[in-house]
Amino acid sequence: MMDSFVYEGLPARVIFGHGTLDRVADEAARLGQRVLVVSTPEQTGAAGDLARRLGGLHAATFSGATMHTPVEVTDRAMAVVTDARIDAIVALGGGSTIGLSKAIALRTDLPQLVIPTTYAGSEMTRIIGQTENGLKTTQVTPRVLPETVIYDVDLTLTLPPLMSVTSGLNAMAHAVEALYATNRNPIIDMIAESGIASLYRGLPVVAREPGNLEARANALYGAWLCAICLGATSVALHHKLCHVLGGSFNLPHAETHAIVLPHALAYNAPAVRDAVAAIKRALGGEGIAGKLFDVARDAGAPTALRDLGMPEDGIDRAVEITLANPYDNPRPIDPVLIRRLIANAWAGVRPDHSTYAV
Ligand code: NAD
Repeated sequence: MMDSFVYEGLPARVIFGHGTLDRVADEAARLGQRVLVVSTPEQTGAAGDLARRLGGLHAATFSGATMHTPVEVTDRAMAVVTDARIDAIVALGGGSTIGLSKAIALRTDLPQLVIPTTYAGSEMTRIIGQTENGLKTTQVTPRVLPETVIYDVDLTLTLPPLMSVTSGLNAMAHAVEALYATNRNPIIDMIAESGIASLYRGLPVVAREPGNLEARANALYGAWLCAICLGATSVALHHKLCHVLGGSFNLPHAETHAIVLPHALAYNAPAVRDAVAAIKRALGGEGIAGKLFDVARDAGAPTALRDLGMPEDGIDRAVEITLANPYDNPRPIDPVLIRRLIANAWAGVRPDHSTYAV
């Protein structure tokens, strides 16, 4: 008999497809009449085009979004919100830009229309991380959940192939951990399996042919599904390790996820039979951890933490921090195997089913 479960779907209006940015003015008008456009400095070109499309709704642009959502940047954006009497936010970009949009919504409760251009997935979550005096704190609140999301495959064509692959593996990690989350449920299982399969179909082609529209659509669709998983379930060892490694050695977010994922999956596989079965179906066969490693390796993306600048003596430090803060995980945290995992991820070893067997 099926177990009882709780499924909580987060409300969002989602427009998905090619050329969907054409609908941005109509969609923004549902939310407000004086719109702030938010982007990073690197995406000012796309933000300018967006502002033109908004026509009379566009009241101001803030192009200062940056990594880790520093509060100083949010304070500067808030000054624009007040001066321009903003009543809705339209954010175009990756997790950093969406982070700023959420930080403004946290302070103002303004409605948000978000247009993601990476596969990171923040648009589907109630999570907001902010940095103050170098310290990152995370909150979970429905206040930061965007009202509307426009996924336009065309906007992802400029995402460089390597970033696409690491960002896509980062997304897959959300779905992999959702399949063995303590609060998993059959609805999220379906979404997670489908998300992993769609990304796995898309990413290798995107790496070779970044302009392939069908592969880009598969990747973005998969990223959306994986984002739903992140928004709906708790995380485990993989996210914990990435948090420790990223925070302790200042490693880049998506690349760290891409490197750690095959190892975290190989580690947990013996304890999560249903999840492994779903991932096998999604990836089309055995050797699931190796298959994910190959997606990064074949694309020429980093597969070793040392290539991201983590020092070798950091391995023991990372093990220590990981063990000091126990974390929900389906397989108990074994100190010897965790050291092996971090050392392997540091060196770029390709994991298989025997790598973390006892
Ligand atoms: P990012 O937003 O930092 O973007 C990296 C760079 O790529 C930026 O310069 C950006 O302008 C550029 N870029 C983005 N899309 C592009 C495109 N299509 N073409 C060309 N350039 C493009 O990177 P990210 O990986 O999307 O986001 C990472 C951040 O998001 C991290 O800080 C992470 O903590 C956060 N995040 C938060 C959540 C959440 O739920 N709160 C979820 C996932 C990630």
